[in-house]
Amino acid sequence: MTVAESLQALREKIESRNPAEPEFQQAVNLVLDNLGPVVTRHPEYADAKLLERICEPERQIIFRVPWVDDAGEVHINRGFRVEFNSALGPYKGGLRFHPSVGLGVVKFLGFEQIFKNSLTGLPIGGGKGGSDFDPKGKSDAEIMFFCQSFMTELYRHIGEYTDVPAGDIGVGTREIGFLFGQYKRITNRYESGALTGKGLVWGGARVRTEATGYGTAYFVEEMLAANGSGLDGRQVIVSGSGNVAIYAIKKVQALGGRVVACSDSSGYVFDRAGIDVELLRQVKEVERGGIAVYAERRGAVASYAPGKPVWEVPCEVALPCATQNELDTSAAKQLIESGVIAVAEGANMPCTPEAVRLLRDAGVLFGPGKAANAGGVATSALEMQQNASRDSWTFEYSEQRLREIMRDIHASCFETAGKYGRPGDYALGANVAGFCRVADAMLALGV
Ligand code: GLU
Repeated sequence: MTVAESLQALREKIESRNPAEPEFQQAVNLVLDNLGPVVTRHPEYADAKLLERICEPERQIIFRVPWVDDAGEVHINRGFRVEFNSALGPYKGGLRFHPSVGLGVVKFLGFEQIFKNSLTGLPIGGGKGGSDFDPKGKSDAEIMFFCQSFMTELYRHIGEYTDVPAGDIGVGTREIGFLFGQYKRITNRYESGALTGKGLVWGGARVRTEATGYGTAYFVEEMLAANGSGLDGRQVIVSGSGNVAIYAIKKVQALGGRVVACSDSSGYVFDRAGIDVELLRQVKEVERGGIAVYAERRGAVASYAPGKPVWEVPCEVALPCATQNELDTSAAKQLIESGVIAVAEGANMPCTPEAVRLLRDAGVLFGPGKAANAGGVATSALEMQQNASRDSWTFEYSEQRLREIMRDIHASCFETAGKYGRPGDYALGANVAGFCRVADAMLALGV
């Protein structure tokens, strides 16, 4: 069998083993598409069936999460934790609370996490979890009861040497607090390293809140610099207005970019004076309101486009920071027509494979999520380091570490792409460099 034939056979096997999981198939295929030349160079990977092994989670946990709402009604949600790969360290990855969460979504996110975590160069394996619970419109008490019920099952599977969850969509510092409180209560251990994304006074790390967005901005800066350019004076649009988007906007602005639009599930806002990031944070994170409120408060400089995709706003740099498959072929075409030069994924797999192809064919620099948004999980690993040594670093030092890590990730993607004869192909660089580190560890640890 040729390498191409064996990869095709593997694709078919994974498809029949994981039916009705389109996001997982997509994530797997995106990686396998780039691994042909790696297997040719390293026949030992094929002999040890590393590709097949890496696509099969080590453990998948599904559990019932019952909870009672403020009116006394009982609800049942489903909880998930997929412990995908522990060759490099304890499973590490966030928890997502969103109605779209199912096993296939958690598996896609867990699979991405293996390569992303590997790229950070830090000792963390890959995992992901979450629930189909919808936090939208829930009271603080309902969120707390849900988190406590979720942890009542999850606690037996996690720990600082086993599996270390953090936040993702729908899970921020508030939720991590309720989860950590329940973990501590059940185990009677102040085991800070069992969860990351904690609040600063109870074991959290400086820059963790900002890290994913800041890291994405740094990655774009690196991509542009490698091509003799920069962010200064560039018109930028960002999708989303959650934690990743807010801090991506803030850092892009600090690096000289002009962010003129961002969005939420209701539509987008165009702000000709540049997004006021403090107001955005106040509206979205403190008041938990919609983006329309931001536009209203900004007055004449801003306009709100309900139900419209943000991609119609002309830009030179686009940062999809909302959710998977949000940037499709029509969006890619719009962006290319408006003269986009770089797209970097702050979210996980926000660009469809067809959109990525169009962008690449048009010569647009493309930073895949597993590289561009790795700053969040990298800073989680720094949080684990601080917890293990019972230390607390300054903001400046933590940010400097984040910046170095993003620079190293960029360099490793860039160099790997060059080594495999595809200069500038960051997706290939990320997949290959991320894979090789995990593969070498798996090889060393035996079947
Ligand atoms: N959810 C984030 C991600 O997609 C962070 C995970 C973590 O910090 O463990 O990488």
